Amino acid sequence: MSEPASKRRRTESEEGGSDSETQKPFLFMNSVQRSKYWFDDGNVVLRAEGTLFRVHCSMMAHQSKVFKDMFGMPQPQEQTQDVMVEDCPVITLGDTGEDVEHILAVFYDNINALDLRQKMHFSQLSAFLRLGKKYEIEYLQNEALKLLRLDFPATLDAYDKTFAGDQVKYDFPRECGPFTPVILLALDHSIPSVLLSAYLTYVSSVTPRELFTGKEGDILTSSITAICALDRDRLLRCAFNIIQTWWAGLGACSNNSNSCTNNRRSATKELALMLYPSDTGMAPRLTPWNVYEGGERTGPMKTRLCATCMTGFKDRYEDARKELWKKLPGFFGLEEWEKLKDFDA
Ligand SMILES: [Zn+2]
Repeated sequence: MSEPASKRRRTESEEGGSDSETQKPFLFMNSVQRSKYWFDDGNVVLRAEGTLFRVHCSMMAHQSKVFKDMFGMPQPQEQTQDVMVEDCPVITLGDTGEDVEHILAVFYDNINALDLRQKMHFSQLSAFLRLGKKYEIEYLQNEALKLLRLDFPATLDAYDKTFAGDQVKYDFPRECGPFTPVILLALDHSIPSVLLSAYLTYVSSVTPRELFTGKEGDILTSSITAICALDRDRLLRCAFNIIQTWWAGLGACSNNSNSCTNNRRSATKELALMLYPSDTGMAPRLTPWNVYEGGERTGPMKTRLCATCMTGFKDRYEDARKELWKKLPGFFGLEEWEKLKDFDA
């Protein structure tokens, strides 16, 4: 099968001058079309759904061990002789045409397709993961994983940076929001570290009603929606328990005055809403304190506090965020962070 096309017997299609007249049944389907990856000197045709790609065995084998093995094995009679297009054997893949096009773009257009200064579309990223795994193209899997981990990291420090900076390296599908496709991808490919921060971001950005009515499109199954709902609830209850202890943990203010006491009371209320947004029913966003700083504001609160009280509040808030982050895997029924193993571990 890897022999040059010119040495093989000519097919009826070539002799007839038009492949559409003499091809096997699937080629008569109206929906079959040639991809832009159709090289006249290609020696194998890949078929994915209704799209045909005429490419080079040597290129496919060089990129993928699975293709290498496939081409190295003698092909069944019906595959080499009965299904030919322009003298090339046709291999039918179980993938989508779009997915195959994404990986061929990397093989044949390389730097243009994989320019990380540009945002990658989510469909490209998920194709890299899916087909990278299936065809053992490790660098594609690793590239996708690297990008996912930038946006959905496994440490609170890194997660904070995604709040502060423009870390999102790919465009999300327009028809649904940014988080549910990542949740599904992380579940499909066993990437629990990405799953957790995607869960957190999702449940802290939708109300309970939106969670069940599918704000981001109805792509989550009911069992995943149930997980999100239950774990959002666990997160909220834990946040509430932490808030209960805030007042005691603050200690006395060295400026102990009536205004400090009153201000602390209203600041506690404000801060509690950050961590326990009971008005929306969303999970805590775990937004870092410094996001609120700037201008005249020195933290998330409108209440003016003396410097000592402010430091106390900031410390309590940051401690609470760290505690919630640490417990995050448990809320979602997973092992603690240190024991989580992504598929590449
Ligand atoms: Zn004070």
